[in-house]
Amino acid sequence: MKMPSVRIDLGKLHDNARIVTALCARYGIRTAGVVKCCCGSPEVARVLENAGCDQIADSRIENIRKLREAGIRSELWLLRLPQKSEIRETVNCADLSLNSEADILQALSEEAVRQNKLHKVLLMIDLGDRREGVLPGDAVGLARFVTKLPGLVLSGIGTNLTCFGGIVPDEHNMQILAAAARQIRRELNVRLPVVSAGNSSSLEWMQSGRMPEEVNHLRLGESILLGKEACSGHRIPGTHDDVFTLQAEVIESAVKPSRTEGEAHLDAFGRRPQITDRGNRRRIILGIGREDIVPEGLSPETPGLLILGASSDHLIADAETLKSVPRPGDILSFRMNYPALLRAMTSEYVGREYIRDSKPVRYSGAHLICVPFAADASGAAMRQIAESLLTSGFAGDLPLQTLPEILHEPDSPAKAMEMISQSCLKAWKTGRRPYVIGGDHTAAAGLARAAVKKSPGAGWIVFSAHGDFHTRIRPGKCAAGTALSRVVGQGIAPDHLAVIGLQELEPDERESLRTSGCHVYTMEHIDRLGIAEVITRVLAVLRDSPELCIDLVANCLDLRGDHAGLRLREAHCAMEMLSDSGRVCGAVLSEFDSGEESSGKVGALLASLSGKKIL
Ligand SMILES: *Cc1c(COP(=O)(O)O)cnc(C)c1O
Repeated sequence: MKMPSVRIDLGKLHDNARIVTALCARYGIRTAGVVKCCCGSPEVARVLENAGCDQIADSRIENIRKLREAGIRSELWLLRLPQKSEIRETVNCADLSLNSEADILQALSEEAVRQNKLHKVLLMIDLGDRREGVLPGDAVGLARFVTKLPGLVLSGIGTNLTCFGGIVPDEHNMQILAAAARQIRRELNVRLPVVSAGNSSSLEWMQSGRMPEEVNHLRLGESILLGKEACSGHRIPGTHDDVFTLQAEVIESAVKPSRTEGEAHLDAFGRRPQITDRGNRRRIILGIGREDIVPEGLSPETPGLLILGASSDHLIADAETLKSVPRPGDILSFRMNYPALLRAMTSEYVGREYIRDSKPVRYSGAHLICVPFAADASGAAMRQIAESLLTSGFAGDLPLQTLPEILHEPDSPAKAMEMISQSCLKAWKTGRRPYVIGGDHTAAAGLARAAVKKSPGAGWIVFSAHGDFHTRIRPGKCAAGTALSRVVGQGIAPDHLAVIGLQELEPDERESLRTSGCHVYTMEHIDRLGIAEVITRVLAVLRDSPELCIDLVANCLDLRGDHAGLRLREAHCAMEMLSDSGRVCGAVLSEFDSGEESSGKVGALLASLSGKKIL
């Protein structure tokens, strides 16, 4: 392995891209995946296009060519205004380029005619950040010019913010963009399919719900690659911040005085070193320097390691408090911010290593496991659910397995639980998600037992009207009231457990829920925050769980229209968002009545959880 090296986890990247593109889709926004920060890496581009980006974009024509030659099928966008010297290459390799200069457009047109091609144009408008773009007043004129040029197609308009001037999207500048789109459409009678409102720094504005309806596109790099909302620096819920890690090798490890000796002048970069005397300390040198990275943008993954500084080829760090003493040849790992990543990916001294960690599991379908239970739902209702799931557009195959009716026997719960757990594990082996339907609360415990075996940090999200957090079965009651405590009993950590939709709690449950460490969202939270915000928060608090089980207890749904519970539309929204997170590994469904209508509705919810989309 070449050292230093950037390790790129394509599985985590896929997760990030899915989460970000799904988030945008929620607001009617399509995305171009921007790969300039990783030097137009075709491996990265391929993951982005598979995960839902509509186009792949880069600022350098060399990278566009590389992507083209690597067989990337998506539309390729040149993000920087073409240089006059690269017109031929631009028309040859890029499907679309960003433009603001009439001369360049003229040249692109002539070259497109020469190559017998159509080249698409995104006209850039400067809304105040003062990087590229015509001023808003000149937009229609230049757009008209483009429509008259042979070989060019006016695909849309765009703007770039928070680059030179640090200007953020706001009501004023976004409305100017929207107005320009309307005016161009009206006056030039063109469709103008793309209105692209900026980069990763526009995501927060988008989520505020104030994006004008004309805006339908963003160009996203940092948010996908680093999982960060660029404007606020917030993590995007559910994303990974370690898709890229820098690996560097220790070349010296010694205990030395921390103060320098002799007369101090300037360091190798003309700065006056600030050095604190902390006595004798273990210090290490890594074989990496300013040629390869921006040292200020590195965060060590080794606890206790403290970066002291760097020269061109050396990174010096304090390793005094490390658990084990680093030795020459040891490899240490660092996370990088955007500038550090950019430098590392463009340094020719830094190697690249692509990995797919074992975590991301892609499911090709579901496996229905029906657990008959006399007091709950009949086998017929379960088959109805399966049927409605199939007819409601569920994609993929759907094996159906009905467990024997052993649950009536007095000693059966343990046996049933084990049987359910085994069936779930088997489903995962074949690449399918288990959906456990019906039965009593052993069903949830069975899935939970399997889930912790498969993925030790598994999370659990239960939609339920009741807490079901009694720890003991009370006389005269069935085991229902103990469901959640049983899930915890199988090894799901309480802080990996979220309860949504509670309507009532008994006093002892309230106490045990409160002290349990579970994340609880009652109907009151849903009324006040809205279900989308609740799910966003749940996905954020469970961010350490790579995989999630969904436990839908039908009593929380407002199936009869009495408005006490979760409305069907809200439940669908929740299921869709959970599906979009790409982290759902299985589900359990219980306590529904066997009426045809409600099984149909419940089946449709499972279809949403499986990724069914209206559009
Ligand atoms: C770099 C760039 C982007 C992407 O920016 P991120 O902050 O990485 O999302 C979008 N548009 C243009 C024109 C760019 O140059």
